Amino acid sequence: AKSTGHNMYFVYENDMADNIDAHLTLGGGLRKAIEEEQFILHYQPKIRLCDEVVVGAEALIRWIHPELGMISPDQFIPLAEESGLILPLGEWVIRRACRQLQEWREAGFAPIKLSVNLSSRQFMQADLVDMVERVLEETGVDSEYFELELTESMLMADAQQSIDKLHGFRKLGLTLSIDDFGTGYSSLAYLKKFPIQTLKIDRSFIHDLGLDCDNDAIVKATIAMANSLNLKVIAEGVETRSQVDALNGYACEEVQGYLFSRPLCGDDFLSYVNGRSAI
Ligand code: C2E
Ligand code: CA
Ligand code: CA
Ligand code: CA
Repeated sequence: AKSTGHNMYFVYENDMADNIDAHLTLGGGLRKAIEEEQFILHYQPKIRLCDEVVVGAEALIRWIHPELGMISPDQFIPLAEESGLILPLGEWVIRRACRQLQEWREAGFAPIKLSVNLSSRQFMQADLVDMVERVLEETGVDSEYFELELTESMLMADAQQSIDKLHGFRKLGLTLSIDDFGTGYSSLAYLKKFPIQTLKIDRSFIHDLGLDCDNDAIVKATIAMANSLNLKVIAEGVETRSQVDALNGYACEEVQGYLFSRPLCGDDFLSYVNGRSAI
């Protein structure tokens, strides 16, 4: 038992050292990475359940590190938040997403709605609405094809200021989505005070569909209530047909997940959509 304990401690210590190393290495490289644009966006299709047509996509950032290869956002978005570099990085994401929409259009592809994630520090930025407006104008994107994904906790930090900001976005013509719904503490009744249009049910609830009656009841009731409040519901992290069947039964409008596709680069996304419509 003693040696196991020792080994566990040892492994843990090594892990920690690795994490600290990664933290310093990535953190130090982030500024340069932004200057050199070592990032790409991947796009995950959003599928309308009634006909399984691709009706939208979510933009997800990846860091293509010159030595470490592809790094996932969970590993560097927190660092970018801490250092404030999320502000230039976040603007890059919005501009890149808008340009991608135009590139797809130039390729003869019917427009779809593209959503972008915001982080909390970015959401607190005073001139955020102006920045988004500027990028939309600069890239010529019609705002009805642009959506922002926000989390409950971002809105709760300063509710009144959030409401004002969301109204600012609504005036620009874009739509607003609540990401990871169900993981925070807010009720739908409270969330309706904010001018939002879409609710994304967190993938932890989708993962447990069919495995836990209480979980199923929560998902079913959430979708029913959201529908009656005129919110579009999208389920994230859909990985199986039986999850799709359950969500269909609950009148969920859209799904997103590995069952249909992983996030894809811009060109692969086009091939994916073209491949599906050819069937
Ligand atoms: P999120 O916004 O909740 O994004 C969904 C995550 O779930 C993505 O991970 C996606 O690849 C993954 N996913 C999609 N379908 C499935 C599935 O069927 N099963 C499972 N297990 N996972 C699935 P990713 O791309 O690693 O992004 C992680 C998080 O990083 C995002 O969570 C988001 O919070 C953040 N993020 C990503 N891109 C950006 C960005 O441009 N800006 C900001 N501020 N945050 C971003
Ligand atoms: Ca999201
Ligand atoms: Ca999410
Ligand atoms: Ca998330």
